Amino acid sequence: MADVTKGPQRTCIACRQAADKKQLVRYVVAPDGTVLVDYLQRLPGRGAYTCLAIECLVAAVKKNSFQRSFKGGCLAVEATQLTEQLRQAVDKKMISLIGMARKSRQFIAGSNAVIEALKKDSSLALIIVATDISVSIGKKIEALALRNHIDTTRCYDKQTMGQLLGKEERSVIAIQAGFLADSLLKELHIHRKLVREN
Ligand SMILES: [Zn+2]
Repeated sequence: MADVTKGPQRTCIACRQAADKKQLVRYVVAPDGTVLVDYLQRLPGRGAYTCLAIECLVAAVKKNSFQRSFKGGCLAVEATQLTEQLRQAVDKKMISLIGMARKSRQFIAGSNAVIEALKKDSSLALIIVATDISVSIGKKIEALALRNHIDTTRCYDKQTMGQLLGKEERSVIAIQAGFLADSLLKELHIHRKLVREN
């Protein structure tokens, strides 16, 4: 991993590589002994860390690294359960970033508005297309985005996207370039990695 010299370092309990704490996944033990993914790294108590890779998470479970790291103070862990927790945490973070983009007006919603913006505006950083958008509109938007080198994703259906924005349904959202878009792209990268690795 690059530029790891700044923040505090932690070691992955599976592969033993040290990295910036912020680039790793933190785990803590709940009062009932369950191992929890502490994705935002804010929960109290002793933490254990793995790389942000399913491979290391699975290896840590197999090698009993959680039990060792928490000195036997945790219940048995299952890789599938931890993976699911991790995925949900990434999803939650993405949803909260979309909400922030909406509040700060760094986004455009609706297929017509997004198509217009794509035709004249290059300040868009990410287009989120509903999984159930009409085929022709979806293709049109994705082609325009590709031509403008703008990343697109399909991770939610129209209803979910509407809920994110307090509307009934939304078939497409565009996020404008800026720090929220950067954070969202970073989470999206992690999301894609988690889906692919499983
Ligand atoms: Zn690792």
